[in-house]
Formats: sequence, structure tokens, C-alpha cells
Amino acid sequence: MTFLVLGVDAATWKMIKPNLDELPNWKRLVEECDAGTVELEEKPLSPLIWCGMFSGTYYKEHGHKDFVVDGDIVKREDLDVDFFWDKLDVDARALNVPFVVPTYSYNVDFEPVGYGLPTTEEEWNKELEKVTEKTKEELEEKPDVLVSVFTTLDRVQHFHWGEDMVLDWYKEVDKKLGEVLFETGFLGDESNKLILVSDHGFCSFGEAEVQTLPEETKHGKLKGDHHEEAVVITKNVERKIDEPQDVYRAVMDVFG
Ligand SMILES: [Zn+2]
Repeated sequence: MTFLVLGVDAATWKMIKPNLDELPNWKRLVEECDAGTVELEEKPLSPLIWCGMFSGTYYKEHGHKDFVVDGDIVKREDLDVDFFWDKLDVDARALNVPFVVPTYSYNVDFEPVGYGLPTTEEEWNKELEKVTEKTKEELEEKPDVLVSVFTTLDRVQHFHWGEDMVLDWYKEVDKKLGEVLFETGFLGDESNKLILVSDHGFCSFGEAEVQTLPEETKHGKLKGDHHEEAVVITKNVERKIDEPQDVYRAVMDVFG
């Protein structure tokens, strides 16, 4: 049995639900698994949410919300938290988790694409490819818990929200979900558990409650920003995932 937590940074039902006919693997997941929405109570900042999701703590406890503080890049060692992989006495692995840059990996040898902030189309493709291949490779070894995160959609949506190309990238992610979850037989094995989750949704730049990046960046003007409705899909997971910390609790329910 493997418990897979597959993160898709910034995935939103706003893009998935109206386009299910063009997203066959998302569609299959919605039909065959339990699909829902996580309404974030905390600010929809990626470092804050991913950190809380895997440590089971809230911002008032972990105190982490920015990749850079006072001009210094925040590192794993700077965070006074234990993630479930630090606590569990099982084969737990994590790859490309974006609560810090470059993204964090644990018990997995993984070199992030574009320092964990892929910016060009070439880098987006490369990340999807690389995370998919590494995830499949790790799943073959049947670890007890594996966390793996795709960051591409967050980057695409910041720069292209509202454009047709956003759906094209959901289709690319869809193919990768198919490869990881169906073609490997992962979901065919009834003993396996899955949580597929995003850290926040997305909306147009002006509608966002928090501005996570300056509107003008060196890569162009931003068109989208984070929204507090995140996506969650589970299979064989008893606990209902209502908030990011429930992901930690669901893993601890099984192995803690
Ligand atoms: Zn994010």
C-alpha cells in the first residue's frame, strides 16, 4: 500500500469543472473518487499553505508565509516545524514541495526545474515531464507515503489567467495525471490511498483577496492571483479533507 499525496499547485475547479470533456483524467478522477473543495481560512499563500498541509500546524504556529524574508531566501532549516515525513518511522518521501524555493525534497534525489519557479514554456513542460517521471519511479518502489507536487499551473495562471492557453496547460497536466495515477495501475490497486490537492485556487488579479506578487514583474504583467477555494480529490481516505491540515491528519491516521 502506498499513500500518495499529489499536489497540483493552484489547480482550480473554475478551470476543471467546465472543461471536463476535454480533461479525461480529471473527469475520471471526479467520477471514481471523492471530489470536493477546501475553503481556505488562512491566507492563500503557497508557502504558508503547503507548510501547514504537511506539518498539521497553522500560520500562528509555523510562522511561514514568504519565500524571501528580509532579502534572504527562507530554507527548510529556518522553519521550526516537523513535517509528517520527519516524524514517521515509515518509508516516507517527498519531491518538489514548494513551501520553499528551490522546492524541497525528502528521501528523493530531485533537482527542481527553474529553481522551483519554472517561468518559460520550456520549463513548464520540463517540470511536468520531470515530476511525472520521478513520481512514477518512486511509486514503483512502493514507499509507504509519497508526496509529489506539480507547480506549473500556478506559474501559467499568474501570467496567462483568462487566456485560452491556460486550458492547454490543464490538458498537459491531465495527461500527466493519467500517466501517474492510471497507467501505472496505482488507482487500480484498491489498497492504495490518494489525496490530490491544490494549495489554493485562482482568480483574476484584481479579484484576489491577497496580492501574492507585484502586478509588474520582470516576466511581464500579472493577470491572475490566488483564490481561497482549493481542489481536493481523495480515494480510500476516511478523513474528510476540509482544510490543508487535514492532509497531515489523514496521513497520521494511517501511520502515526
Ligand atoms: Zn500555490
